[in-house]
Amino acid sequence: MNSSMKQVMVVGGGVSGLSAAVDLARLGIAVELVENSGSLGGHAAQLSCKATDHCVSCGACVVEEKIRQATGDANIRVHLNSSVVNNNSNDVNRRKRFDVTLKQDQEMQHIEVDAVLIASGFAPFHPANKPYGYGRFENVMTTLELDLMLRKSGAVKRPSDAAFPRNMAFIQCVGSRDSSLGHLWCSKICCGAALRMASCIQNRQPGMKSTFFYIDIQNFGKNFQTDYADMHRHILIRSIPADVLKTADDRLKLSYFDPDTQAYQESIFDMVILSVGLTPSVSTRNLAAMLNIDMYGFAYARKTPIPLPAGVFAAGAALEPMSIAESVLSAGKAASDIFHYMKTS
Ligand SMILES: Cc1cc2nc3c(=O)[nH]c(=O)nc-3n(C[C@H](O)[C@H](O)[C@H](O)COP(=O)(O)OP(=O)(O)OC[C@H]3O[C@@H](n4cnc5c(N)ncnc54)[C@H](O)[C@@H]3O)c2cc1C
Ligand code: SF4
Ligand code: SF4
Repeated sequence: MNSSMKQVMVVGGGVSGLSAAVDLARLGIAVELVENSGSLGGHAAQLSCKATDHCVSCGACVVEEKIRQATGDANIRVHLNSSVVNNNSNDVNRRKRFDVTLKQDQEMQHIEVDAVLIASGFAPFHPANKPYGYGRFENVMTTLELDLMLRKSGAVKRPSDAAFPRNMAFIQCVGSRDSSLGHLWCSKICCGAALRMASCIQNRQPGMKSTFFYIDIQNFGKNFQTDYADMHRHILIRSIPADVLKTADDRLKLSYFDPDTQAYQESIFDMVILSVGLTPSVSTRNLAAMLNIDMYGFAYARKTPIPLPAGVFAAGAALEPMSIAESVLSAGKAASDIFHYMKTS
């Protein structure tokens, strides 16, 4: 890094932060990339390739490419296991500077930068309080956990007895579109992600049947038609189950109102997968407070977009639920905005 270069701190080493860092570095801006966990990639690094007999454009492989680019760029300095604990901004010769205190393990260091990019992402909804047995029944998992299992072992087995499941139920909208939680937003990615995952598992484990319990299928983006055409492989029931109970033979019983028969029904599955939504993270809110932003996070962005202070930018799923492809685009826009801000400030 050259000491006369303009400097930006990118907070968050997920696909948005990595992407923005790479774009900024290419524009000749020095980047301090701060990640509070021990590795780069964020949530996208837990996702598996969902290719069936063809690539289904799930985006999971993008993050590896971004990690390779960011770690190989001399203009990017990566700080792992690090968090921002304080920020003082001041104007030096009419130029705004941020004096950021970083904590890595027990060590503190001060880094001065010209701008800060919030790329601290989202928190997956934690379904412990929903009536679906999560945390009580081993064979109830979230989509994120199922994805990680597929990524690590290439197959899906029941955690309770390592048997291959013969049928699985996906419950959509867990933690999204839920007025009892005050979560009125659609998380946007979970219908497509769950459908791709079910088709991928069916390809690898023939005979496995997936049933989707859903409100409606939101499958945004350019692959809508392809994913939609694949839906005939699965059973679709437009109803959200009331609860999940364990049977005496270690299976899972779902009760729901069936719109076709207009009656309550029960069905039994080997596994139940909860399509958890994206929620604003506490970390993003804390970071926002340190940067003197009153309220931040997509729960509020819906009502009034809050103007960011000069020199502060945001990208990716810290702003609102978005896919990997959209996060890359959002990071590109933020990098371009920062570049123009640097030229004019
Ligand atoms: C179940 C599930 C399945 C999905 N499947 C798909 C899919 O198939 N295709 C798709 O395109 N998208 C999918 N997504 C969405 C995808 O995960 C997001 O688009 C992507 O992760 C957004 O990247 P991000 O960098 O904005 O946020 P994140 O991935 O959340 O990354 C944020 C990073 O910032 C770090 N961080 C947070 N706070 C701080 C802080 N204060 N200081 C330093 N670091 C911090 C975190 O540790 C993390 O590394 C899925 C999401 C879920 C939940
Ligand atoms: S986009 Fe998804 S399906 Fe296609 S190769 Fe990459 S990880 Fe696999
Ligand atoms: S994308 Fe689908 S599962 Fe996710 S919140 Fe929207 S409708 Fe529900």
